[in-house]
Amino acid sequence: MALHDAPNLTDILAAQRAAFNAAPNPDYATRKANLQKLARIIEDNEQAFKDAISADFGNRSEVETVLAEMMVISAGIKHQIKHVRKWMRVRKAPTAMTYKPSHNRVIPQPLGVIGIISPWNYPLQLAIMPLVGALGAGNRAMIKPSEFTPQFSDLLKKVLSEAFSDDEVYVAVGGVEVAQEFSGLAYDHLVFTGSTKVGTIVAQAAAKNLVPCTLELGGKSPTIIDDSADMKLTTQRILNGKALNAGQTCVAPDYVLMPKSKIEKFADDFIKRAEEFYPTFAGNPDYTSIVADSHYSRLQDLLEDAENKGARIRVAGNDDKQQLAKERRVPVTVVTDTTPDMKIMQEEIFGPLLPIVASEDLEESLDYIQKRDRPLALYWFGTDKAKREKVLHQSISGGVTINDCAWHVIQEDIPFGGVGPSGMGAYHGEDGFRSFSHMKGVFFQSRFSSGHRLYPPYSEKTAKLLNLIKKIS
Ligand code: NAD
Repeated sequence: MALHDAPNLTDILAAQRAAFNAAPNPDYATRKANLQKLARIIEDNEQAFKDAISADFGNRSEVETVLAEMMVISAGIKHQIKHVRKWMRVRKAPTAMTYKPSHNRVIPQPLGVIGIISPWNYPLQLAIMPLVGALGAGNRAMIKPSEFTPQFSDLLKKVLSEAFSDDEVYVAVGGVEVAQEFSGLAYDHLVFTGSTKVGTIVAQAAAKNLVPCTLELGGKSPTIIDDSADMKLTTQRILNGKALNAGQTCVAPDYVLMPKSKIEKFADDFIKRAEEFYPTFAGNPDYTSIVADSHYSRLQDLLEDAENKGARIRVAGNDDKQQLAKERRVPVTVVTDTTPDMKIMQEEIFGPLLPIVASEDLEESLDYIQKRDRPLALYWFGTDKAKREKVLHQSISGGVTINDCAWHVIQEDIPFGGVGPSGMGAYHGEDGFRSFSHMKGVFFQSRFSSGHRLYPPYSEKTAKLLNLIKKIS
């Protein structure tokens, strides 16, 4: 029976592992061919992917799908093809004087089968980028995309199964029960991208089989605006980071820390600039909808809670509220006079709402950040180099972009990942290659080794030799 007729996940994993064991070290040409095939699939189905993702969201800006999904994948594949031959080389490693003339090597080896669980917010990018790393490192992969984007997930399954056999790349579609079964399998490595809450459940499921995990999670990413910042530039860059995908971005600037005296002007300018970006929110193809009713009500609830606790809410535009609700569009909104007891200051927002926290100086901002969960991203705007260096060295976050938002994520030459509750491990570029490889250390013993001098029975001579080794090592 063909594997397509028997989509039992345990069987698929067994078939992938058997196929891997039969060819455990794919050469560069094979890896390159797989990556090129992947690039073609994305290119050939660009419009179909745009349509499916937009249908799932209600409206997803086509430009955003190209910019934040297709272009990221294309750059990732090109980078991988350019560098993987070098990364997969057997490396000479230094050997301590004591052990010479023996020598060391490190052999990068594919791990086998990589499990990939992806979220709905950038469904294509976050399913495919781990796959790029997995295939570049010579592995096979099974993917479970989100149930919140069913049309996209069906399309992904269709196009990948046309190009790859089930024992190379397999897509498992379905709801949470499929995700639970999927996360319980004994992969060689599991990459989970999603919320910290579900990440905790997935890590526990993986631990039962001692499956190592890369966890790409979320959280509240702070943005500090320093006195030295160019406010015009800062306003539009934070707006762009917040409004992209209607704020449904793991590294969106979650909230702003800035001096109280500057808040009112910044909030007014932010709203004005938002109305220039989006003359209307309803019916605007450039502005993305909120993915589901549950998330739409969650955002309304955050605003209601903040308002009830004394916050001032500024909403951009003047769209008809019923129409906005019908299209699940939430206009860019600024929330001032915030207090820590508001839900909007406690939960990851994941929408186009920007709360502002009054903070008079850098020490106060750093203290605020340090007392909370370690964030996935941190943004600092300013020109004062001393303060910039202080932020970089005294705050801990997954990554940082200085004087803009989110750009560090798409740099293939630096690691991308979270820290603490915002994640563990990293992928993208060489870090992905390492995550999906076993860096096997090999010691080549020389026939002239003097190791036999340390064999029992131990004697005075052994003691003298040990003393000598201690001195030279
Ligand atoms: P989610 O955690 O609800 O779901 C993610 C995936 O987990 C989905 O595929 C889902 O099917 C699966 N899942 C759900 N319940 C499960 C269970 N009990 N066991 C196993 N799998 C289960 O996240 P989401 O709502 O799809 O995405 C939003 C979150 O993802 C935000 O917190 C955001 O910050 C985070 N995120 C992080 C990154 C990153 O790179 N760090 C990128 C995008 C999104």
